[in-house]
Amino acid sequence: MKLRADLHVHSEFSFDSKSKINKILKKAKKEKIDILAITDHEEFLGGEKLKNLSKELIVICGEEIDTEYGDIIGLFLTKKIETKKFFEVIKEIKKQKGIAVIPHPSIHHILTDEVLNSIDLIEIFNSRVGNSGNEMAKMLANKIKKPGIAGSDAHFLFEIGNGITLIDSKSKNIEDIKAALQMGNVELLCKRSPKLKRYWAKFVKIWRRR
Ligand SMILES: [Zn+2]
Repeated sequence: MKLRADLHVHSEFSFDSKSKINKILKKAKKEKIDILAITDHEEFLGGEKLKNLSKELIVICGEEIDTEYGDIIGLFLTKKIETKKFFEVIKEIKKQKGIAVIPHPSIHHILTDEVLNSIDLIEIFNSRVGNSGNEMAKMLANKIKKPGIAGSDAHFLFEIGNGITLIDSKSKNIEDIKAALQMGNVELLCKRSPKLKRYWAKFVKIWRRR
């Protein structure tokens, strides 16, 4: 079966988003999304809250962590990752039987061989990244032979669904979904966020950081 997934969404538990959990659920339904991953910056609560709220939507609990080698996303986590050291984050993701993803590799990453060998997936489409950045991500994934995924990186509700990973999974079971992702049994449906809105998001980020 083919399942529509947005694997990179931020909620109000991220310092840079105001998207309420119940509204994320509503938007996901509208976009006919089957699987949604909450990947808040250094936060874990959003995914758990959404999981408690939703019946049909399959929720993946994740976290986006700012490490010394750049951002890394852990998907299928069971608890918050406390460390911010890259290789310790990887260790913790594996311990939780999660999947390690490099989001938007063209932005502020130090991509050593060791870093690239330790991750599972590359985000080859991010709806907030320009064409050249996404192209670079695609080339990188091809070069190191790692499967790719798409993500909206939605910080606003209207962005949810802009980066869909269509997962060809045996069932709706989490283990089957995880396996399909790791085997790269996916198709990507991509739509870029309008430039103006991306600019606005940046503004809100700066503003909320103060
Ligand atoms: Zn993000």
